[in-house]
Amino acid sequence: MIRTRFAPSPTGYMHIGNLRTALYEFLIAKSQGGKFILRIEDTDRERFVDGAIDIIYDTLKVSGITHDEGPDIGGPYGPYVQSERKNDYLKYALELIEKGEAYYCFCTKERLDSLKTETTEHEQIAKYDRHCLSLSKEEIEKNLEEGKPYVIRQKIREGSTTFHDEVYGDITVDNAEMEDQILIKSDGYPTYNFANVIDDHVMDITHVVRGAEYLSSTPKYNLLYEAFGWKIPTYIHLPAVMKDQHHKLSKRNGDASFQDLVAKGYLPKAIINYIALLGWSPSVNQEIFTMDELINIFDIKGISKSPAIFDPVKLTWMNGEYIKKMSFDEFYKLAEPKLKEAVKTEGIDLKKLAGYVQTRIGTFNDIAEMVDFVDSLPEYETSLYVHKKMKTTEEMCLEHLKKAVPVLENLDDWTNEGIYNALIALIGELGIKNGQMLWPVRTALSGKPTSPCGASELAELLGKDETIKRINKGIELLSK
Ligand code: GLU
Repeated sequence: MIRTRFAPSPTGYMHIGNLRTALYEFLIAKSQGGKFILRIEDTDRERFVDGAIDIIYDTLKVSGITHDEGPDIGGPYGPYVQSERKNDYLKYALELIEKGEAYYCFCTKERLDSLKTETTEHEQIAKYDRHCLSLSKEEIEKNLEEGKPYVIRQKIREGSTTFHDEVYGDITVDNAEMEDQILIKSDGYPTYNFANVIDDHVMDITHVVRGAEYLSSTPKYNLLYEAFGWKIPTYIHLPAVMKDQHHKLSKRNGDASFQDLVAKGYLPKAIINYIALLGWSPSVNQEIFTMDELINIFDIKGISKSPAIFDPVKLTWMNGEYIKKMSFDEFYKLAEPKLKEAVKTEGIDLKKLAGYVQTRIGTFNDIAEMVDFVDSLPEYETSLYVHKKMKTTEEMCLEHLKKAVPVLENLDDWTNEGIYNALIALIGELGIKNGQMLWPVRTALSGKPTSPCGASELAELLGKDETIKRINKGIELLSK
């Protein structure tokens, strides 16, 4: 059975690239009836951030990426937090020492620093010179008895290492390029490089899916698998998520994390749909997918090895599609607080306004700007009245607004329909095009180049007094 794992470090931040990794791991497992495991990689104690694990749980939960085993729900391969497995790693490291595949290293920081060579531009860290590989058994025992601090290093074998990645193909690396990396640190914790291999093996992980930044370390992991005599998992490395051709999407961009995007008004479902396509192409010509559809259709073959560029415009479009598809009640629940904050005028029918807004926004944060004209008419240029396609001029608009005032003043049926019919009747009387009346009225009522609804809807929403007032204001501006 396929088993994949998401192995985030608790950094307090869910980068979109990491969430995409989690999603693909989930989809790979679920599309083949497998299990998806959550494992917390907290061996780097210096980077530990309080509350970070809850961010991981919350993000997965609202994203619909549900794990089958993990720290919060347990499972047959626990514990699922690396710091709780600390003693196991040491046991495995000692096994490698026994096998001659690893060794104790007592080198001091000063000695390691002295290995650095000065180059013209910058200090370069030289490869560890294997000083401690030649220590005798007696020397090692003496050092251990004296309680000298030590690390355990992997003894990199000679030769070359070849492996296959499902996305990047076959990769061969000369082992001479690799350092005798540290497996157990002086604080007794394993390095990430060691812990992930042990955990992936003991947790029966069949497919290791992770960012391409780990591709270059993979040969070292494979040497560890070989040293233990373990089966190497299937590797699926994912290309970086970029801001543009040359820059990775980073925390500094302000929209690199799931939390950033939610705060910007994007819906978790739309974010997930969008990132599913960030580096993967489906075999069908379709862009909007539910999670179940993704599970059905996801295929490793569709993963691209070229970097994926995060496109906020596309995400906003997709989010808008999700908003349009919501039931009105569902939409209104989320929109109401935004509307209440943006519209303070008494008596405005917020539900009606919400109905107009629902089909026109990209995110919920667009609402405020879209309805800002309700509380107060913005200052605007009279050039707004000029509409090329409707062939309106400022003089014409002035004339038509003047004609509209008495008609509206005398109208009793102040409903969208009533107002519309009255204006259409006037248009017929004047023998003009619809737009040549509706456009100036819409402009006078909103003071903006675009509005969430047309002239009669705006008039109904604002009420008779405000409508007449705003049209008169338009007449005043156009008369200047
Ligand atoms: N803890 C690593 C990270 O957060 C996981 C890498 C992996 O999936 O092996 O980047």
